[in-house]
Amino acid sequence: MRIHVIGAGIIGLACAHELVRRGHRVAVVDPAPGSGASHAAAGMLSPAGEAWHGEPEAWDLGVRSAARWPSYAAELGVALHRTGTLLVGHDAADAQLVGRQVELLARLGVDVAPLGPIELRRREPTLGRVACGALLPDDHAVDPRAVVAALLDRVEVVPTRPDERPDVTVLATGSRLPAPFARLVRGVRGEIVRAHCDDQPRHVVRGWVRGESVYVVPRPGGEVVIGATVEEHSRPPVVTLGGVERLLAAARILVPSLDRAELREAIARDRPATPDHLPLIGPVDDTTWLAAGHFRHGVLLAPLTAHLLADSIEHGRVEPAVDPRRFDCKERTS
Ligand SMILES: Cc1cc2nc3c(=O)[nH]c(=O)nc-3n(C[C@H](O)[C@H](O)[C@H](O)COP(=O)(O)OP(=O)(O)OC[C@H]3O[C@@H](n4cnc5c(N)ncnc54)[C@H](O)[C@@H]3O)c2cc1C
Repeated sequence: MRIHVIGAGIIGLACAHELVRRGHRVAVVDPAPGSGASHAAAGMLSPAGEAWHGEPEAWDLGVRSAARWPSYAAELGVALHRTGTLLVGHDAADAQLVGRQVELLARLGVDVAPLGPIELRRREPTLGRVACGALLPDDHAVDPRAVVAALLDRVEVVPTRPDERPDVTVLATGSRLPAPFARLVRGVRGEIVRAHCDDQPRHVVRGWVRGESVYVVPRPGGEVVIGATVEEHSRPPVVTLGGVERLLAAARILVPSLDRAELREAIARDRPATPDHLPLIGPVDDTTWLAAGHFRHGVLLAPLTAHLLADSIEHGRVEPAVDPRRFDCKERTS
């Protein structure tokens, strides 16, 4: 088939790559490839850390996509950070939040043992004062910018739509879906900081500091990524002093050596959120497919999304949890 993919973020590129692998003729269209949320993402592949009450479908999708990541990363030639994630709480109230997550994971069948402060610091000497924590051994991380670069090497992206008429158009424009689908996705701002540190943590460290949620993701070569704020808003995403201050204050309490880290970048992007926080992967009419609305999980869900999208185009199989037609897709014009 001739397929146009509109949008070259991690989702559009992963879909295009899978469709090319399956022998389709694909053009990806984006005037600014890789510049959206995928450019900001921390790259945590963290179904356990992100598990939430009342979200069984998100858990199921996350676990299935996480299982694809080792072979996907190897195929793309990008490094997978596989030391696991330490979930930690700074004070007694934060420890309750860790306890709640551990209980939820136990109910989901994940064997996660709570760890005390001494054991935590033995595993991760860069940690500051923490009340308790847990190791999430299967929550890994990847550098989304490296993934996007690897995918850009494998598919062709053009700034404007080719003249040819495609058999199928895939809309993968992240938080900005075009009419008549625009209201299916809204932007949820996330601010994130990148720094360089000689003494970075071995693990991804995520958790709570006096109720503030924060994570520190180490990357090869000394980079650390500190994120992220979450804010509903209707303006363009900008970095705010308040957002950066909250992130850095919490991160430096969890990992005190960050005090000496060199600040490299602070950016903000919109996460593409749907009303039920599940993505849109499937057809909306005979020739238009959506691959959008991945909210906080677009990096984690990229390999599974590519697979589900290609299957739905080729075989008409659409998973109900992600079927865009669970919503009234078209905007009413009157
Ligand atoms: C601060 C932050 C941290 C995050 N951390 C994580 C994480 O740790 N793990 C995780 O799994 N997810 C994370 N996410 C979420 C993840 O980044 C998103 O879910 C994912 O990047 C969405 O990818 P996308 O390709 O749909 O959208 P985008 O990356 O936003 O790409 C959309 C693309 O569409 C293009 N476009 C827009 N309009 C048009 C148009 N009309 N024509 C052509 N092209 C167009 C844009 O130029 C852009 O390149 C994070 C997000 C943020 C903001």
